[in-house]
Amino acid sequence: MIIQEFLDTNITYLSGVGPKRAEILNKELNIFTFRDLLYYFPYKYIDRTRFYKIAELDPDLPFVQIRGVIKGYSTEGHGYGKRLVADFQDETGTIKLVWFKGGKWITGSYSPGVEFIVFGKPGVFNGIINIIHPEIEAANKMAERLNSALQAQYSTTEKLKNQYLTSKTISKLIGNLLKQIKIRLPETLPAYLVSRYKLTDLHESLHNIHFPSNPEELEKSRYRLKFEELFYIQLNLLRFKTNRNLKYNGFLFSSVGENFNNFYYNNLPFTLTEAQKRVMREIRKDLGSGKQMNRLLQGDVGSGKTLVALMSMLIALDNGYQACIMAPTEILAIQHYQTICNLLAGIDIKICLLTGSSKKTSRKSIAESLLDSSLNILVGTHALLEENVQFSNLGLVIIDEQHRFGVAQRARLWQKNLNPPHILVMTATPIPRTLAMTLYGDLDVSVIDELPPGRIPIKTMHFTDSERNKVFGFIRNQIAEHRQIYIVYPLIRESEKMDYKDLEDGWDTISRAFPAPKYCISIVHGKMTPANKELSMKLFKDGHAHILIATTVIEVGVDIPNATVMVIESAERFGLSQLHQLRGRVGRGADQSYCILMSSDKLSREAAKRIEVMISTNDGFEIAETDLQLRGPGDIEGTQQSGIPFDLKIASLSKDGQLIEYVRYIAEDILTKDPLLEDNQNLIFRTELKRLFSQRQSWSNIS
Ligand code: ADP
Ligand code: MG
Repeated sequence: MIIQEFLDTNITYLSGVGPKRAEILNKELNIFTFRDLLYYFPYKYIDRTRFYKIAELDPDLPFVQIRGVIKGYSTEGHGYGKRLVADFQDETGTIKLVWFKGGKWITGSYSPGVEFIVFGKPGVFNGIINIIHPEIEAANKMAERLNSALQAQYSTTEKLKNQYLTSKTISKLIGNLLKQIKIRLPETLPAYLVSRYKLTDLHESLHNIHFPSNPEELEKSRYRLKFEELFYIQLNLLRFKTNRNLKYNGFLFSSVGENFNNFYYNNLPFTLTEAQKRVMREIRKDLGSGKQMNRLLQGDVGSGKTLVALMSMLIALDNGYQACIMAPTEILAIQHYQTICNLLAGIDIKICLLTGSSKKTSRKSIAESLLDSSLNILVGTHALLEENVQFSNLGLVIIDEQHRFGVAQRARLWQKNLNPPHILVMTATPIPRTLAMTLYGDLDVSVIDELPPGRIPIKTMHFTDSERNKVFGFIRNQIAEHRQIYIVYPLIRESEKMDYKDLEDGWDTISRAFPAPKYCISIVHGKMTPANKELSMKLFKDGHAHILIATTVIEVGVDIPNATVMVIESAERFGLSQLHQLRGRVGRGADQSYCILMSSDKLSREAAKRIEVMISTNDGFEIAETDLQLRGPGDIEGTQQSGIPFDLKIASLSKDGQLIEYVRYIAEDILTKDPLLEDNQNLIFRTELKRLFSQRQSWSNIS
């Protein structure tokens, strides 16, 4: 049997497995074949060369290993608490070993007086150190495993344990499997990469990862396997980009003409920041390349992305094309529409707004002017995606606040033309660079990493509920200075009812503290009709309402420069990136702005850390980085829809940033030289990509 077929063998046929265990391995660990088992990597290693003395043990220690004898057994407790207890002794003291089940088997297997090695996590009960459900092994058998001092630990689940698939069993199964493989496991990377980057070969790496001979070898093997995993993710993403470039020509926007110049020299109300200039150069280069642009523009809230979007659209117009910009909510679409109309005042460009609530007549006239090319810029919401919205020559699509749009929706915009338009995706959710490389690996990334000059950094403060009066006093002072206040309540879907209760209670408290007619309070939440929402927003936007009470519907993009205070209620219930987004709603004008985080007195360690980070920095990228460390990539907004398999087997998107950059560079280099991977030495890539990603290809096709 050739080795590949052998590796594809169903796990049922491994000795020690069988149908019942196979089913559980399928379900719990996604292990279906011999290969899957080989690639089920330990999550940590325990140094089994170290022995503790009983006198040294304390309940804060992790897993420990001790050597001693059982002095005798007894039974303690009754009912569910009934347990078998052994006194275990070495020359320095005695501890208790405890079992809640399997007592008969234990007393039958481990006789008093014989020397055993006991392994487990020390705990404490009634002041006496114990180990519950320890691993026990005869001391004279230990020699057998000393060839591997570092013992691999595999994560298991309750269901696995019920079938006696413990970490130890899994290790045994893998050991058996490796013994059956009589030849060297074939490489999954071409020989030239293995030698150029001094990688340990696959055969050795797979042995070492499960049964390391020493820490150095283990580290080399881990590196090799991480390299391989991350490299193939990047190669896959970059290959789609390469294919797209080979397959489609982009519109060539060769000139910068009247519209752009007219705006730039007559209407632009300020000078661009250096970052805005740099990004414009990057975009212009794409648009003039003859290839389709697929670019992600990241920039913190308030960094001036709208201006970049507008100038890019003007270049499209200058080359005879139409452009559109799509926002995730009606409020934002209207805001963009107004901003763009203002910025283009006096320039002969036709701009229209299309949203879900556009009237039939205006829809009709929009449709007509789109087709006869008299409409230049269309601003809107998801309504732009509807099939009856047809452009005559759409050249550039801008998508604002990307994470609210699924990949599939982006694809629909693509299809509005025979030739795909250029695409610029803008997001204010900063994503750490290396994560973006994976999440948006097939897009080019531009970053605005500088705020317009003259902004006064927002002051962030933390108060607990018991200090509420102080906060209200502060708000009154701000209102007396004609500033406006946001007060935001969390809305978490699982407990929606409770959340609305919070919002209602909050409304009660606040309207008592800020009574009419002296104060005017406006409220916005998801359960209101769009018309009422709009009305409340308008009341605040026009400066009539002093306070806007809201759920997180205001999170994205709303721009009201006179609002200088953002109060976030139950701040401990928000994630970091959300807190940062909310804070970005203030600090848009020339006045000092404040973000006030309200929380209960008792905070979990993580919540305290989040609040601490918010107070210490205004830098969105720093916050995103911390968020990634605290929560891991799976929870970061946008990652779920991305389709990337985040259950990486060995590498970590948060910890292996450098390696991600490195392998991406290597993959780019390979594709530049051999775009279709046709070179003989590169054929192995095709086999591997097919094996790794064939079920997942559909999502990567689009962007
Ligand atoms: P965001 O990146 O969050 O979408 P906006 O485009 O809404 O940011 O810009 C935020 C504010 O900064 C707007 O009021 C805009 O007019 C202003 N702005 C943008 N660029 C500059 C600049 N170069 N100099 C001064 N103000 C700017
Ligand atoms: Mg914006």
